[in-house]
Amino acid sequence: MALTLKNVYQLYINGEWVNASSGKTIEVDNPSTGEVLTKIQEANKDDIDRAVTAAQAALTEWCQTTPVERQDYLLKIAEVIEKNNDYLAEIVSAEMGMPASTSSFLEIPGAADHFKYFAGCIRAEEGFVATIDANDIAITIREPLGVCGLIIPWNFPISISAWKLAPALAAGNTVVIKPSSHSPLSLLELVRLIDEAGILPRGVINVVTGSGKVCGAALTSHPGIDKLSLTGSVEAGKNVLREASCNIIPATMELGGKSPNIFFADCDLDKAVEGAILGLGVHNQGEVCSAGTRAFVQAEIYDEFVERVCKVLAKLKVGPAWNDETEMGPIVSKEQMEKVLSYIEIGKAEGARLKLGGKRITTPPLDKGYFVEPTVFVDVKNSMRIAQEEIFGPVLCIIKFVSEEEVIQMANDNDYGLGAGVWTRDINRALRVSRAIRTGKVWINTYDQVPANVPFGGCKKSGFGREVHKMAIDEYSNFKTIYIHTGEKPYGFYPES
Ligand code: NAD
Repeated sequence: MALTLKNVYQLYINGEWVNASSGKTIEVDNPSTGEVLTKIQEANKDDIDRAVTAAQAALTEWCQTTPVERQDYLLKIAEVIEKNNDYLAEIVSAEMGMPASTSSFLEIPGAADHFKYFAGCIRAEEGFVATIDANDIAITIREPLGVCGLIIPWNFPISISAWKLAPALAAGNTVVIKPSSHSPLSLLELVRLIDEAGILPRGVINVVTGSGKVCGAALTSHPGIDKLSLTGSVEAGKNVLREASCNIIPATMELGGKSPNIFFADCDLDKAVEGAILGLGVHNQGEVCSAGTRAFVQAEIYDEFVERVCKVLAKLKVGPAWNDETEMGPIVSKEQMEKVLSYIEIGKAEGARLKLGGKRITTPPLDKGYFVEPTVFVDVKNSMRIAQEEIFGPVLCIIKFVSEEEVIQMANDNDYGLGAGVWTRDINRALRVSRAIRTGKVWINTYDQVPANVPFGGCKKSGFGREVHKMAIDEYSNFKTIYIHTGEKPYGFYPES
């Protein structure tokens, strides 16, 4: 299917496509080819003000819609996503390099499923009642927070948008959403499709585009925003939290990771080899926040594990994203590619042994894009920068361990706390280690499974708050408790005589 992108994408405010007042544009390129795809506009403070005002105006009616009505809206959005699956997948692949197999079969279907899931969740929502005694009860009801500012990274542009949009809208909020400047097109096109299908009242979803520094900062500091939700880097998280604290509003933080993927000697090695590669996130070039990029391998199986993982990674088909054969695409941008390559140099300088890859791919036609070889470092020490810092590329650090205690200590010796994997046939050990690791999520004998009804989120510098589960609706709700006393007489606390 040929992409039919606009030459320049405007902002989507109050159900209309409007120009940004700055008159500035930003180019969006295709990392598989280095070619410019199109341009987006740079929204500034004035544009954010317009978008927030539109969202506030829409809130008056939207927050009065019933759960049945909102279920209906969400299901219609899911239908639009499903109907345009391949079109949206192709845009995601073009703008950020996600292989077609991932964008068509995971990214877009996952987003549709999210809208369906939250459509169901909001129907099941009942609030709760506390019975205090014969005279007193308290009912707790859910109310929307108001206008939500949603900030999206480039690595899963549609599914992470769905992670935030679906629960925010289900809870009765209106939104101003800002995609990353590297991958804004799929969201803009999705909103165009929703608009053309006439699904939502105007102002319920508003899309602003631009850099984090200008557009993102204006959105997060706007006094009309009632809730912020960011998925992004720790640096962006600090800035967003600073603004949230000034306005005393809640914020959900889904930040970076450097997750441990732990392989005990008794694990099923066939599954483990696959799990190490799945954990590395090659299906999205390692640009996966929960990627298990620190593979801890017990000494007894270390050599065989390294050989087998490298053998599979060496055969991986790296190529243009929108190609059925491709198993790993390009890095999102030149800048990110250079960051990945610079970490590879850091790893070598730190004394880690480069076992596989390590270079930019320069064979035509891939030389025009931002392709990096699948890379494996062995003899890595957990204290090295390549093991401590998020690289966000296809770079696996393999670290040898001997005992359970040692590996728990090393797994926890990191600023992040997003995901983790534990591979063993010993159920007692699997649970013991899972409980000892400080992360938001642990997968046992699998990795990176994210169904809609299982919470996702982190602790430590990976952030706080949860998405991808009905508890995400709580992140977008004010719980109001109404305390009712039915006694006829005064308590007698302050007698008149
Ligand atoms: P980024 O922090 O550079 O940008 C994320 C978004 O925040 C973008 O839309 C950006 O424009 C915006 N932004 C940046 N600075 C801002 C500011 N000062 N104020 C407001 N907005 C600002 O991150 P990225 O490079 O797009 O994405 C990669 C990062 O996201 C990685 O660290 C990755 O681990 C993380 N991530 C986390 C999860 C999760 O669920 N925990 C999921 C995906 C990605």
